[in-house]
Amino acid sequence: MMRTIYFDNNATTKVAEEVAEEMRPLFCELYGNPSSMHTFGGQMGRKIRLAREQAAELLGCEPSEIIFTSCGTESDNAAINGTLAAAPNKRKVITSRVEHPAVLAVCRELENRGYRVVELGVDGQGRLDMEELERQVDDDAALVSIMYANNETGVVFPIEKIAEIVTSRGAIFHTDAVQVVGKMPLDLSKSSIDLLSLSGHKLHAPKGVGILYVRKGTRLSPFMLGGHQEGGRRAGTENVPGIVGLGKACELAARNIEEENNKVKRLRDKLEKAIMEKCPDCRLNGDKENRLPNTSNISFEYIEGEAILLMLDRYGICASSGSACTSGSLEPSHVLRAMGVPFTAAHGSIRFSLSRYNTEEEVDYTIEKVPQIITRLRELSPFVSS
Ligand code: PLP
Repeated sequence: MMRTIYFDNNATTKVAEEVAEEMRPLFCELYGNPSSMHTFGGQMGRKIRLAREQAAELLGCEPSEIIFTSCGTESDNAAINGTLAAAPNKRKVITSRVEHPAVLAVCRELENRGYRVVELGVDGQGRLDMEELERQVDDDAALVSIMYANNETGVVFPIEKIAEIVTSRGAIFHTDAVQVVGKMPLDLSKSSIDLLSLSGHKLHAPKGVGILYVRKGTRLSPFMLGGHQEGGRRAGTENVPGIVGLGKACELAARNIEEENNKVKRLRDKLEKAIMEKCPDCRLNGDKENRLPNTSNISFEYIEGEAILLMLDRYGICASSGSACTSGSLEPSHVLRAMGVPFTAAHGSIRFSLSRYNTEEEVDYTIEKVPQIITRLRELSPFVSS
Protein backbone atom coordinates (compact mmCIF):
# COMPACT_ATOMS: atom_id res chain seq x y z
CA MET A 1 0.00 0.00 0.00
CA MET A 2 1.20 3.48 -0.85
CA ARG A 3 2.21 5.50 2.18
CA THR A 4 0.21 8.53 3.21
CA ILE A 5 1.77 11.93 3.70
CA TYR A 6 -0.77 13.82 5.72
CA PHE A 7 -0.75 17.60 5.26
CA ASP A 8 -4.43 18.15 6.06
CA ASN A 9 -4.28 18.64 9.81
CA ASN A 10 -6.66 21.62 9.82
CA ALA A 11 -9.33 19.19 8.59
CA THR A 12 -8.61 16.60 11.25
CA THR A 13 -5.65 15.05 13.05
CA LYS A 14 -4.34 11.64 13.93
CA VAL A 15 -5.34 10.49 17.41
CA ALA A 16 -2.14 10.43 19.48
CA GLU A 17 -1.11 6.91 20.56
CA GLU A 18 -1.04 8.06 24.20
CA VAL A 19 -4.63 9.32 23.80
CA ALA A 20 -5.87 6.07 22.24
CA GLU A 21 -4.14 4.14 25.04
CA GLU A 22 -5.96 6.15 27.69
CA MET A 23 -9.31 5.61 25.96
CA ARG A 24 -9.01 1.88 25.22
CA PRO A 25 -10.26 0.45 28.56
CA LEU A 26 -13.30 2.72 28.48
CA PHE A 27 -15.09 0.80 25.72
CA CYS A 28 -15.31 -2.83 26.87
CA GLU A 29 -14.10 -2.82 30.48
CA LEU A 30 -14.90 0.48 32.17
CA TYR A 31 -18.10 1.35 30.38
CA GLY A 32 -20.23 2.58 33.30
CA ASN A 33 -22.45 5.63 33.23
CA PRO A 34 -20.98 8.46 35.34
CA SER A 35 -24.47 9.26 36.67
CA SER A 36 -24.98 5.78 38.17
CA MET A 37 -25.02 5.25 41.93
CA HIS A 38 -22.75 2.20 41.86
CA THR A 39 -18.97 2.36 42.13
CA PHE A 40 -18.53 0.90 38.64
CA GLY A 41 -20.25 3.88 37.03
CA GLY A 42 -19.24 6.43 39.63
CA GLN A 43 -15.54 5.97 38.95
CA MET A 44 -16.14 7.49 35.53
CA GLY A 45 -16.90 10.77 37.27
CA ARG A 46 -13.32 10.86 38.52
CA LYS A 47 -12.01 10.33 35.01
CA ILE A 48 -14.12 13.20 33.68
CA ARG A 49 -12.93 15.38 36.55
CA LEU A 50 -9.30 14.68 35.61
CA ALA A 51 -9.99 15.47 31.93
CA ARG A 52 -11.62 18.76 32.97
CA GLU A 53 -8.52 19.65 34.99
CA GLN A 54 -6.21 18.76 32.11
CA ALA A 55 -8.20 20.95 29.71
CA ALA A 56 -8.34 23.81 32.24
CA GLU A 57 -4.56 23.61 32.65
CA LEU A 58 -4.01 24.01 28.90
CA LEU A 59 -6.46 26.91 28.64
CA GLY A 60 -5.46 28.65 31.88
CA CYS A 61 -8.97 28.60 33.30
CA GLU A 62 -10.95 26.97 36.12
CA PRO A 63 -12.22 23.40 35.59
CA SER A 64 -15.74 24.65 36.37
CA GLU A 65 -15.54 26.93 33.32
CA ILE A 66 -15.30 23.96 30.93
CA ILE A 67 -18.36 22.36 29.32
CA PHE A 68 -17.76 19.20 27.31
CA THR A 69 -19.69 19.13 24.03
CA SER A 70 -19.80 16.85 20.99
CA CYS A 71 -17.70 19.00 18.60
CA GLY A 72 -16.55 22.46 17.64
CA THR A 73 -19.77 23.07 15.75
CA GLU A 74 -21.88 22.36 18.83
CA SER A 75 -19.69 24.65 20.94
CA ASP A 76 -20.11 27.49 18.42
CA ASN A 77 -23.89 26.97 18.18
CA ALA A 78 -24.25 26.80 21.97
CA ALA A 79 -22.11 29.91 22.50
CA ILE A 80 -24.14 32.02 20.09
CA ASN A 81 -27.65 30.77 20.75
CA GLY A 82 -27.07 30.25 24.49
CA THR A 83 -25.79 33.76 25.20
CA LEU A 84 -28.43 35.49 23.06
CA ALA A 85 -31.21 33.62 24.84
CA ALA A 86 -29.78 34.90 28.12
CA ALA A 87 -29.63 38.55 26.90
CA PRO A 88 -32.97 39.06 25.13
CA ASN A 89 -32.97 42.87 25.07
CA LYS A 90 -30.20 43.47 22.56
CA ARG A 91 -30.65 42.77 18.86
CA LYS A 92 -27.26 43.12 17.20
CA VAL A 93 -24.68 40.40 16.55
CA ILE A 94 -21.26 41.04 15.03
CA THR A 95 -19.11 38.44 13.32
CA SER A 96 -16.70 38.30 10.37
CA ARG A 97 -17.03 37.30 6.75
CA VAL A 98 -14.33 34.67 7.09
CA GLU A 99 -15.79 32.57 9.93
CA HIS A 100 -16.29 28.83 9.68
CA PRO A 101 -19.88 27.90 8.68
CA ALA A 102 -20.39 26.69 12.29
CA VAL A 103 -20.55 30.40 13.19
CA LEU A 104 -21.55 32.03 9.90
CA ALA A 105 -24.60 29.82 9.26
CA VAL A 106 -25.84 30.32 12.83
CA CYS A 107 -25.49 34.10 12.57
CA ARG A 108 -27.22 34.22 9.20
CA GLU A 109 -30.09 32.22 10.66
CA LEU A 110 -30.37 34.81 13.43
CA GLU A 111 -31.44 37.34 10.83
CA ASN A 112 -34.62 35.30 10.37
CA ARG A 113 -35.24 35.76 14.09
CA GLY A 114 -35.06 39.54 13.89
CA TYR A 115 -31.41 40.10 14.78
CA ARG A 116 -29.27 42.57 12.91
CA VAL A 117 -26.11 40.73 11.91
CA VAL A 118 -22.97 42.60 10.89
CA GLU A 119 -20.22 40.68 9.11
CA LEU A 120 -16.89 42.51 9.39
CA GLY A 121 -14.62 42.47 6.36
CA VAL A 122 -10.94 41.65 6.00
CA ASP A 123 -8.17 43.16 3.88
CA GLY A 124 -6.17 41.49 1.12
CA GLN A 125 -4.06 39.66 3.68
CA GLY A 126 -7.04 38.41 5.64
CA ARG A 127 -6.64 40.92 8.49
CA LEU A 128 -9.80 42.05 10.28
CA ASP A 129 -11.13 45.57 9.75
CA MET A 130 -10.56 46.84 13.30
CA GLU A 131 -11.95 50.31 12.58
CA GLU A 132 -15.22 48.80 11.48
CA LEU A 133 -15.26 46.71 14.67
CA GLU A 134 -14.78 49.88 16.75
CA ARG A 135 -17.65 51.53 14.89
CA GLN A 136 -20.04 48.60 15.15
CA VAL A 137 -19.75 47.63 18.83
CA ASP A 138 -22.45 49.89 20.27
CA ASP A 139 -25.12 49.70 23.00
CA ASP A 140 -27.30 47.37 20.94
CA ALA A 141 -24.51 44.81 20.38
CA ALA A 142 -25.34 41.66 22.33
CA LEU A 143 -22.60 39.36 21.09
CA VAL A 144 -19.46 39.50 19.00
CA SER A 145 -18.17 36.20 17.62
CA ILE A 146 -14.80 36.38 15.87
CA MET A 147 -12.54 33.41 15.18
CA TYR A 148 -9.09 33.26 16.77
CA ALA A 149 -7.40 31.90 13.63
CA ASN A 150 -8.71 31.09 10.20
CA ASN A 151 -8.91 27.44 9.20
CA GLU A 152 -8.12 28.11 5.51
CA THR A 153 -5.30 30.65 5.67
CA GLY A 154 -4.10 30.27 9.27
CA VAL A 155 -4.35 34.07 9.75
CA VAL A 156 -4.50 34.88 13.48
CA PHE A 157 -6.66 37.82 14.56
CA PRO A 158 -5.61 40.14 17.45
CA ILE A 159 -8.13 38.40 19.68
CA GLU A 160 -7.10 39.87 23.04
CA LYS A 161 -7.41 43.38 21.64
CA ILE A 162 -10.78 42.55 20.11
CA ALA A 163 -12.01 40.95 23.36
CA GLU A 164 -11.04 44.08 25.31
CA ILE A 165 -12.86 46.42 22.93
CA VAL A 166 -15.99 44.26 22.95
CA THR A 167 -16.24 43.50 26.67
CA SER A 168 -15.35 47.05 27.76
CA ARG A 169 -18.49 48.15 25.89
CA GLY A 170 -20.74 45.64 27.62
CA ALA A 171 -21.12 43.08 24.81
CA ILE A 172 -20.27 39.40 25.16
CA PHE A 173 -17.26 38.07 23.29
CA HIS A 174 -17.03 34.56 21.84
CA THR A 175 -14.12 33.21 19.85
CA ASP A 176 -13.93 30.07 17.74
CA ALA A 177 -10.47 28.81 18.70
CA VAL A 178 -10.87 25.41 17.04
CA GLN A 179 -7.71 25.93 14.95
CA VAL A 180 -5.69 27.52 17.72
CA VAL A 181 -5.83 25.25 20.74
CA GLY A 182 -2.68 23.14 20.79
CA LYS A 183 -1.00 25.34 18.15
CA MET A 184 -0.55 28.49 20.23
CA PRO A 185 -0.30 28.99 24.01
CA LEU A 186 -3.45 30.39 25.63
CA ASP A 187 -4.04 31.84 29.09
CA LEU A 188 -7.69 32.61 29.67
CA SER A 189 -6.98 33.77 33.23
CA LYS A 190 -5.37 36.89 31.73
CA SER A 191 -7.91 37.35 28.95
CA SER A 192 -11.19 39.20 28.33
CA ILE A 193 -12.64 36.34 26.25
CA ASP A 194 -16.06 35.29 27.62
CA LEU A 195 -16.59 32.12 25.59
CA LEU A 196 -14.21 29.96 23.55
CA SER A 197 -14.87 26.91 21.37
CA LEU A 198 -12.50 24.05 20.67
CA SER A 199 -12.71 20.66 19.01
CA GLY A 200 -10.97 17.44 20.06
CA HIS A 201 -10.21 16.10 16.61
CA LYS A 202 -8.09 19.11 15.70
CA LEU A 203 -5.61 18.44 18.51
CA HIS A 204 -4.97 14.71 18.32
CA ALA A 205 -8.04 13.64 20.33
CA PRO A 206 -10.88 11.72 18.64
CA LYS A 207 -13.82 13.08 16.69
CA GLY A 208 -17.08 13.58 18.57
CA VAL A 209 -15.87 15.66 21.50
CA GLY A 210 -15.34 19.37 22.01
CA ILE A 211 -15.28 22.05 24.67
CA LEU A 212 -17.09 25.29 25.26
CA TYR A 213 -15.25 27.46 27.76
CA VAL A 214 -17.64 29.82 29.56
CA ARG A 215 -16.13 32.44 31.84
CA LYS A 216 -17.50 32.34 35.36
CA GLY A 217 -20.43 34.75 35.61
CA THR A 218 -21.29 34.66 31.89
CA ARG A 219 -24.97 33.93 31.42
CA LEU A 220 -25.69 31.02 29.12
CA SER A 221 -29.04 29.34 28.49
CA PRO A 222 -28.68 25.58 28.13
CA PHE A 223 -28.75 24.51 24.52
CA MET A 224 -29.39 20.81 25.12
CA LEU A 225 -32.14 20.07 27.63
CA GLY A 226 -32.51 16.81 29.52
CA GLY A 227 -30.41 15.39 32.36
CA HIS A 228 -28.22 17.28 34.81
CA GLN A 229 -24.87 16.53 33.14
CA GLU A 230 -22.22 19.28 32.90
CA GLY A 231 -23.82 21.15 35.76
CA GLY A 232 -27.14 21.35 33.93
CA ARG A 233 -25.52 23.35 31.11
CA ARG A 234 -25.34 20.53 28.55
CA ALA A 235 -27.59 17.52 28.96
CA GLY A 236 -26.77 14.08 27.57
CA THR A 237 -24.79 11.10 28.88
CA GLU A 238 -21.14 12.02 28.70
CA ASN A 239 -18.91 10.68 25.91
CA VAL A 240 -16.51 9.31 28.52
CA PRO A 241 -13.87 7.84 26.16
CA GLY A 242 -13.88 11.03 24.07
CA ILE A 243 -13.66 13.30 27.10
CA VAL A 244 -10.85 11.26 28.64
CA GLY A 245 -9.03 11.29 25.28
CA LEU A 246 -9.43 15.04 24.96
CA GLY A 247 -8.10 15.51 28.49
CA LYS A 248 -5.01 13.50 27.62
CA ALA A 249 -4.56 15.39 24.33
CA CYS A 250 -4.68 18.67 26.27
CA GLU A 251 -2.05 17.37 28.68
CA LEU A 252 0.22 16.41 25.76
CA ALA A 253 -0.30 19.77 24.05
CA ALA A 254 0.45 21.69 27.24
CA ARG A 255 3.62 19.70 27.84
CA ASN A 256 5.32 20.24 24.48
CA ILE A 257 3.62 23.21 22.83
CA GLU A 258 6.63 25.43 22.22
CA GLU A 259 9.06 22.76 21.08
CA GLU A 260 6.53 21.13 18.77
CA ASN A 261 5.38 24.36 17.24
CA ASN A 262 8.96 25.37 16.48
CA LYS A 263 9.45 22.08 14.68
CA VAL A 264 6.17 22.37 12.77
CA LYS A 265 6.88 25.97 11.80
CA ARG A 266 10.35 25.10 10.50
CA LEU A 267 8.92 22.33 8.31
CA ARG A 268 6.03 24.52 7.11
CA ASP A 269 8.41 27.35 6.22
CA LYS A 270 10.73 24.98 4.35
CA LEU A 271 7.83 23.53 2.34
CA GLU A 272 6.35 26.94 1.58
CA LYS A 273 9.63 28.60 0.61
CA ALA A 274 10.64 25.78 -1.73
CA ILE A 275 7.25 25.64 -3.46
CA MET A 276 7.12 29.42 -3.89
CA GLU A 277 10.65 29.44 -5.32
CA LYS A 278 10.20 26.51 -7.67
CA CYS A 279 6.71 27.29 -9.01
CA PRO A 280 6.23 30.44 -11.09
CA ASP A 281 2.96 32.39 -10.84
CA CYS A 282 1.97 31.40 -7.35
CA ARG A 283 1.04 33.53 -4.36
CA LEU A 284 0.79 33.06 -0.64
CA ASN A 285 -2.67 33.76 0.76
CA GLY A 286 -2.89 35.44 4.16
CA ASP A 287 -0.82 37.56 6.51
CA LYS A 288 2.63 35.96 6.58
CA GLU A 289 3.47 37.33 10.03
CA ASN A 290 0.33 36.70 12.06
CA ARG A 291 -0.27 33.12 11.10
CA LEU A 292 -0.61 29.70 12.69
CA PRO A 293 2.74 27.88 12.61
CA ASN A 294 1.33 24.89 10.71
CA THR A 295 -0.69 26.38 7.84
CA SER A 296 0.27 27.46 4.34
CA ASN A 297 -2.28 28.47 1.71
CA ILE A 298 -0.81 28.88 -1.76
CA SER A 299 -2.58 29.81 -5.00
CA PHE A 300 -1.33 28.50 -8.32
CA GLU A 301 -2.53 30.60 -11.23
CA TYR A 302 -4.20 29.05 -14.29
CA ILE A 303 -5.03 25.67 -12.74
CA GLU A 304 -7.80 24.22 -10.60
CA GLY A 305 -7.16 23.33 -6.97
CA GLU A 306 -9.08 20.08 -7.45
CA ALA A 307 -6.75 18.99 -10.25
CA ILE A 308 -3.72 19.64 -8.04
CA LEU A 309 -5.31 17.69 -5.18
CA LEU A 310 -6.00 14.71 -7.41
CA MET A 311 -2.42 14.67 -8.64
CA LEU A 312 -1.06 15.03 -5.10
CA ASP A 313 -3.32 12.16 -4.07
CA ARG A 314 -1.66 9.93 -6.65
CA TYR A 315 1.57 10.37 -4.70
CA GLY A 316 -0.19 9.77 -1.38
CA ILE A 317 -0.01 13.46 -0.40
CA CYS A 318 -3.14 14.74 1.38
CA ALA A 319 -3.86 18.47 1.26
CA SER A 320 -7.03 20.46 0.68
CA SER A 321 -8.32 23.08 -1.67
CA GLY A 322 -9.80 26.50 -1.07
CA SER A 323 -12.65 25.86 -3.41
CA ALA A 324 -15.47 23.40 -3.01
CA CYS A 325 -17.03 21.63 -5.94
CA THR A 326 -20.74 21.97 -5.41
CA SER A 327 -23.36 20.73 -7.84
CA GLY A 328 -21.02 20.87 -10.79
CA SER A 329 -19.97 24.49 -10.34
CA LEU A 330 -16.68 25.47 -8.77
CA GLU A 331 -17.25 27.97 -5.99
CA PRO A 332 -14.09 29.66 -4.68
CA SER A 333 -13.79 29.75 -0.90
CA HIS A 334 -15.72 32.49 0.91
CA VAL A 335 -12.54 33.29 2.85
CA LEU A 336 -10.40 33.95 -0.23
CA ARG A 337 -13.27 35.85 -1.82
CA ALA A 338 -13.59 38.08 1.26
CA MET A 339 -9.85 38.78 0.92
CA GLY A 340 -10.35 39.84 -2.68
CA VAL A 341 -8.10 37.11 -4.06
CA PRO A 342 -8.56 37.22 -7.85
CA PHE A 343 -10.89 34.55 -9.20
CA THR A 344 -8.18 32.70 -11.13
CA ALA A 345 -5.92 32.50 -8.07
CA ALA A 346 -8.74 31.56 -5.65
CA HIS A 347 -9.61 28.60 -7.85
CA GLY A 348 -6.09 27.24 -7.76
CA SER A 349 -5.52 27.46 -4.03
CA ILE A 350 -4.12 24.63 -1.93
CA ARG A 351 -3.87 24.44 1.84
CA PHE A 352 -1.07 22.47 3.42
CA SER A 353 -1.55 22.03 7.17
CA LEU A 354 1.09 20.20 9.19
CA SER A 355 1.24 18.56 12.60
CA ARG A 356 3.88 17.31 15.04
CA TYR A 357 3.80 13.95 13.27
CA ASN A 358 5.13 15.26 9.94
CA THR A 359 8.76 14.63 9.08
CA GLU A 360 11.53 16.35 7.15
CA GLU A 361 11.52 13.51 4.67
CA GLU A 362 7.81 14.01 3.91
CA VAL A 363 8.45 17.69 3.29
CA ASP A 364 11.39 16.92 0.98
CA TYR A 365 9.30 14.43 -1.01
CA THR A 366 6.48 16.97 -1.40
CA ILE A 367 8.91 19.72 -2.44
CA GLU A 368 10.07 17.39 -5.21
CA LYS A 369 6.55 16.45 -6.39
CA VAL A 370 4.64 19.76 -6.28
CA PRO A 371 6.63 21.61 -8.99
CA GLN A 372 6.35 18.56 -11.28
CA ILE A 373 2.58 18.50 -10.78
CA ILE A 374 2.19 22.22 -11.39
CA THR A 375 4.27 22.09 -14.58
CA ARG A 376 2.31 19.12 -15.88
CA LEU A 377 -1.08 20.72 -15.16
CA ARG A 378 -0.07 24.02 -16.73
CA GLU A 379 0.95 22.16 -19.88
CA LEU A 380 -2.63 20.86 -20.01
CA SER A 381 -4.29 24.15 -19.01
CA PRO A 382 -6.36 26.00 -21.62
CA PHE A 383 -5.55 29.27 -19.77
CA VAL A 384 -1.81 29.13 -20.42
CA SER A 385 -0.96 30.28 -23.94
CA SER A 386 2.73 29.42 -24.15
N1 PLP B 1 -14.49 26.11 13.52
C1 PLP B 1 -13.38 26.02 12.79
C2 PLP B 1 -12.49 27.22 12.63
C3 PLP B 1 -13.04 24.82 12.15
O1 PLP B 1 -11.95 24.74 11.40
C4 PLP B 1 -13.91 23.71 12.31
C5 PLP B 1 -13.63 22.44 11.60
O2 PLP B 1 -13.08 22.41 10.52
C6 PLP B 1 -15.06 23.85 13.12
C7 PLP B 1 -15.31 25.05 13.70
C8 PLP B 1 -15.99 22.71 13.33
O3 PLP B 1 -15.47 21.79 14.25
P1 PLP B 1 -16.07 20.29 14.32
O4 PLP B 1 -15.59 19.58 13.11
O5 PLP B 1 -15.50 19.72 15.59
O6 PLP B 1 -17.54 20.42 14.38
